[in-house]
Amino acid sequence: MTAALPLPTTRTHCPYCAFQCGTVLGGDSPLSVTVAGDEAFPVNAGKLCIKGWSAGELLNTPDRLLTPLVRTGGALKPASWESALDLIADKFRQIQRDHGLDAVGLFGSGALTNEKAYLLGKFARVALRTPHVDYNGRYCMSSAAGAGNKAFGIDRGLPFPVSDIALSRTLLVAGSNPFDTLPPIAQWFERQRANGGRLIVIDPRRTPTARAADLHFANTPGSDLTLANSLMFVAVEERLLDAEFIRTRTAGFDAVRRTVLTYHPAETERLTGVPEAAVRQAARWLATGTPAMTLTGRGPEQQSKGVDTVLAFINLMLALGQVGKVGGGYGCLTGQGNGQGGREHGQKADQLPGYRLIENDAHREQVARVWGVDPASLPRKGHSAFELLDSLGQPDGIRGLLVMGSNVAVASPDAGRIIDRLKSLDFLAVCDPFVNETAELADVVLPVTQWAEEDGTLTNLEGRVIRRRRAFAPPPGVLSDLDILKELAGRLGCGDKFTFDSEEAVFDEFRQATAGGTADYSGITYARIDAEQGVFWPCPSEDHPGTPRLFAERFHHPDGKAKFHPVEHRPGGEEPDHEYPLYFTTGRYQEHYNSGAQTRRVSKLTGAKPAPRVQLHPELAARWGIESNSLVTVQSRRASVEFAADIWSGIRPDTLFAPFHWGGRAAANLLTQASLDPTSRMPEFKLAAVRIAAVRMAELV
Ligand code: SF4
Repeated sequence: MTAALPLPTTRTHCPYCAFQCGTVLGGDSPLSVTVAGDEAFPVNAGKLCIKGWSAGELLNTPDRLLTPLVRTGGALKPASWESALDLIADKFRQIQRDHGLDAVGLFGSGALTNEKAYLLGKFARVALRTPHVDYNGRYCMSSAAGAGNKAFGIDRGLPFPVSDIALSRTLLVAGSNPFDTLPPIAQWFERQRANGGRLIVIDPRRTPTARAADLHFANTPGSDLTLANSLMFVAVEERLLDAEFIRTRTAGFDAVRRTVLTYHPAETERLTGVPEAAVRQAARWLATGTPAMTLTGRGPEQQSKGVDTVLAFINLMLALGQVGKVGGGYGCLTGQGNGQGGREHGQKADQLPGYRLIENDAHREQVARVWGVDPASLPRKGHSAFELLDSLGQPDGIRGLLVMGSNVAVASPDAGRIIDRLKSLDFLAVCDPFVNETAELADVVLPVTQWAEEDGTLTNLEGRVIRRRRAFAPPPGVLSDLDILKELAGRLGCGDKFTFDSEEAVFDEFRQATAGGTADYSGITYARIDAEQGVFWPCPSEDHPGTPRLFAERFHHPDGKAKFHPVEHRPGGEEPDHEYPLYFTTGRYQEHYNSGAQTRRVSKLTGAKPAPRVQLHPELAARWGIESNSLVTVQSRRASVEFAADIWSGIRPDTLFAPFHWGGRAAANLLTQASLDPTSRMPEFKLAAVRIAAVRMAELV
């Protein structure tokens, strides 16, 4: 009798969020795939959330797109690859001939691998020569990125390994609910607690993360900056500052000291809703329970003052001397799978690979040399994500658009307006494994490979560069996004600049393009990532160990010092008033991810959370006679959306919350508004004014 041979397994990573949990895929085909947590990968140490466990079903969904579609007679119909690619190239050429190079645009994604993000940026600048390329990461952590660049001279979501969380004695989490959004991170919080650490959470809702806290501030939406300045007021008044750190490692503190004098916590309580005693308690814990760490999420970041809000928290951590300490400092909990790598390598309107800047002449020359083009031929800075979409079909705006891996019709603020803009395009092409809500509006849809069918690299929320590995051959009929860009470049007359024959070949060119840049990946190879559980950037040579922790010795400004920035409260782009008296804010369910284009196709996830519900406080429900599961029409100045009611005492009585994972008439983003942060161009997803317009009873649900 012979023993059955073990089935092959592949070590790779979850397709969803920036935690990029290590997974082990088993089975001899997608139909029999098994997903297990990778015990050896140090970030998740074998743990996965329900999205990761169930991700195998994505490979077998019945509505997987397996052939290109071309709109014919008003409907999307199957077409050959040749005809679909020819059509895209012809349309883009024609639009640029008639309306100029700037009349076409590209929209990428924080879900794309580094190789794809890099090649998309190169394709925009070299093949189409358009300035207009941006991506949905602009909607995610761009405010934290802007603040990090201003304060530290560099943007890396966590400037330390995630395991440092366990070493902090006081942990402040502002506007994030990681116990729901990236549950395997909870193991590091539990270790922190077991080590005697304290947790402070700022969130208008009593989320699972907030329930675990020693102090929870259920603050008024949009008041995070004021709260951070009040904490700094207490630190100054009670002499909790680290004067030596401020003197030797930073610049600009005096202006911050003067600014926070007007943020006495007794005064700010009216705005924040947080009592003075609690603010004082938190400030004392942060100053004396060290090392202390602050992590921000989308709450403070997705505001029209998102950069200033994050700066207020960074100011506090700098003034307390915590940045650069093991177990201390400031970090952003990046959201999307490759949100970090996606913003470093050129699919952002203002950037070139290696976190170089497209408006910097020296940076343009360095990248142009690698690409073999004249630096003068590279376009300048283009529109940011929302501005790019808002220009579609408008006079002097973009008339032809290629979207790669992003469901902008669901994920954008004021989504009704963006859907109208998409409809007004002369030509729209979408690359996606599924016909999502954006693809439904397209003229051409191209079917692409998914996570377990392709190789590549991603950069997780720690700045650790990791390998996505192919477990199964892609189904017949689909191509990689990389192949599509190569094919289109050939049709546009610059195939000689896109001659790679593997993902690794793209990575090797990309490494060269980053050499000497802020995000220097030149010393990272596929072989090193395989051998070392990932490599942290910057890594400027193959014998460099990588950089798990930044800031121990110096910051990345030329003088080596961190910069304080005085920041002041200002109202959001839209505040509640007598017509629209309630705050509306959005977020995520544990069971779904971003626009839901993937997770709404997984039966375990839709079984657990089949539809969005609006959370509201029992007092508000009683005032309106709303029962649990009643249908409530929520109205903003832009739209009305009907949700089933989820009555819950864990939310502020003046605030409504709904998840943004659904499109169509259940899209929370129909209600949100797009006031932009002046630096990051982040839309204000977290703050809109709404009213309850109608209620229908539960029996009608
Ligand atoms: Fe891990 Fe995020 Fe995937 Fe959940 S969704 S398994 S937290 S990477």
